[in-house]
Amino acid sequence: MIKILIIALVIYLLVVTRARIRLPHPGLQATVDVLKAADLSDDEVQRMAAQYVRYCDAQNRVAPAGDPYAERLARLTGRYVAVNGIPLNFKVYKTSAVNAFATADGSIRVFSGLMDRLGDDELMAIVGHEMGHVRNHDTIGAMRKAYLASAARNALGAVGGALGALSASQLGSIAEQYASAQFSQGQETLADDFSFGFLIRNGYDPYAMASALEKITQISRQGGSEADEVMQLFSTHPDSAWRAARMRSKADLHLGRRSGA
Ligand SMILES: [Zn+2]
Repeated sequence: MIKILIIALVIYLLVVTRARIRLPHPGLQATVDVLKAADLSDDEVQRMAAQYVRYCDAQNRVAPAGDPYAERLARLTGRYVAVNGIPLNFKVYKTSAVNAFATADGSIRVFSGLMDRLGDDELMAIVGHEMGHVRNHDTIGAMRKAYLASAARNALGAVGGALGALSASQLGSIAEQYASAQFSQGQETLADDFSFGFLIRNGYDPYAMASALEKITQISRQGGSEADEVMQLFSTHPDSAWRAARMRSKADLHLGRRSGA
């Protein structure tokens, strides 16, 4: 009898505690979500990233099979099926923006505006850079941060999202945070270095990353609407001119040349 009473008391306390946590106090719920987000495993973050990229795909004009942009990207990337055990998938967004991004589940999205401006090897240099962010797990860190920021900011929007299906508004909020998330200069440098090795291993032009970054620098320096189309990815990256120079001297060194010689 006493046992039953104790069990009943425990159940009662559990129910009351849960009820208290669920009180519609926005700040409290946000705190609960932030705590949950801090606990997310890499697998959970990758699943969240997969939901996020499905949302992005639905929000953008994805080039369908047979589209010249889709065919070009498929021809160039077909042999790259995984990086560091993470399966890759590639799609083109048809928009004039000069951009590309990767997510933790191994999705890489390339904007047709970027494809218009780069040759094949240059494009693969940027793809290699994005693969570097996936391989180095930068994308896991960025997604976790985006979720934390979104949960902290949108008390109502983030309820219980991490472990279940995220709603469109939660994904929209995460998208905002992810788009403005910046990788550190160290992460960018390592992703550039990964791209350089990727170019060399696969027989591309060792100068492709340098020239891609030079073109992007040129567009952003022109100003005006063209520059606006160089999305955050490049404009907030550490100085792209500095990165281009670094990649050029790496290629010089690789080919045993000295600048100016
Ligand atoms: Zn980057």
